[in-house]
Amino acid sequence: MMTVSEILNRQELSREDIIRLLSITDKEEHDELIKRAYSIKERIIGRKVYLRGLIEFSNYCRKNCYYCGIRSGNHKVSRYFLSDTEILEIVEFAQENHLKGIVLQSGELSSEEFVNRITALIAKIKKVTNPDFRITLSLGEQSLDTYKSWFDAGAQRYLLRIETSSEELYNKIHPSDELHSFKTRLKCLDYLRETGYMTGTGVMIGLPFQTIENLADDLLFIKERDIDMVGMGPYLEHADTPLYNYKNLLMPLNERFNLSIRMIAVLRILMPDINIASTTALQSIIPMGREIGLKAGANVVMPNLTPLKYRRSYLLYENKPCINEDADDCLNCLAKRIKMIGEEVAYNDYGDSKHYINRK
Ligand code: SAM
Ligand code: SF4
Repeated sequence: MMTVSEILNRQELSREDIIRLLSITDKEEHDELIKRAYSIKERIIGRKVYLRGLIEFSNYCRKNCYYCGIRSGNHKVSRYFLSDTEILEIVEFAQENHLKGIVLQSGELSSEEFVNRITALIAKIKKVTNPDFRITLSLGEQSLDTYKSWFDAGAQRYLLRIETSSEELYNKIHPSDELHSFKTRLKCLDYLRETGYMTGTGVMIGLPFQTIENLADDLLFIKERDIDMVGMGPYLEHADTPLYNYKNLLMPLNERFNLSIRMIAVLRILMPDINIASTTALQSIIPMGREIGLKAGANVVMPNLTPLKYRRSYLLYENKPCINEDADDCLNCLAKRIKMIGEEVAYNDYGDSKHYINRK
């Protein structure tokens, strides 16, 4: 078997190499991989971390993904929608705290009323921010026309995780109907790219039925699709979801965490100039989880700016962190923690994906 050093010295990683790296169990080998990925991040991006303020503005959703705590079939969730005024106040807070952009995330809705409301909201945000302020959307699958209207209104980035690039696994973790079609999800990624968005995707790591081969293929999928930014993290179970029945198939949390860290590291090696987020789900397993992700090659963190009173209603999974801290605490502690690991928050930088800039 090839050593990790031998693999890391190759010009290009093969699928077998990726599988070998993701399968590492030896601590020294794991550390060697992480160190290499971080050195690439340091060389290409610098010791910088980009912050985006996350606003989970609604938990209404028309979908029923088997893994997600806010799926429409979970009637225990109390549903909310932030008003435009509430959202604009958060945007103001983000600007006062020198954040250069926000992420608007919600469940998936597609009514004309919703689409128009988002278009109007983007325009309102543009009015109160400086012209370069970046708006990222994460609002699920939409028509090409909708993606275009939101882009024309001023949104520049879009996050749509493929969740898994294996159609077979995708079909196991979603209901089998038109609304949850793998092909539609793929088509939406094409639409986003075609519209001109800085396009983001990602996957969940450690799902029941998922294999290391699936995860290697996920990384190759991200590379083949020439994605600009990635948010991927561990799958975490939620008792009020159908996938909870397969809890006994899951790998232990610490293994899921380390595998997620290796996924970040290998992705950084495969795509040196993209933006990679160190996700909240990592922090749910280990308090310093996001910082560990940054040391493995990630370069983006999305502090949660959603008002506290709504956070308990946006529980995608159990043990979601920061549900008791207000945004101010979160931002302050985050900047300190980033400094502690020898990185700096890039306050004067919009943090566009270098990959996106290079491909334009
Ligand atoms: N509704 C939009 C969508 O699905 O694209 C955006 C919001 S959705 C809550 C954002 C992401 O949360 C999903 O893409 C999924 O990867 C992640 N998510 C949902 N349930 C999760 C779970 N149990 N563990 C980890 N991540 C989860
Ligand atoms: Fe809705 Fe997104 Fe959750 Fe699926 S993952 S149920 S689309 S919020």
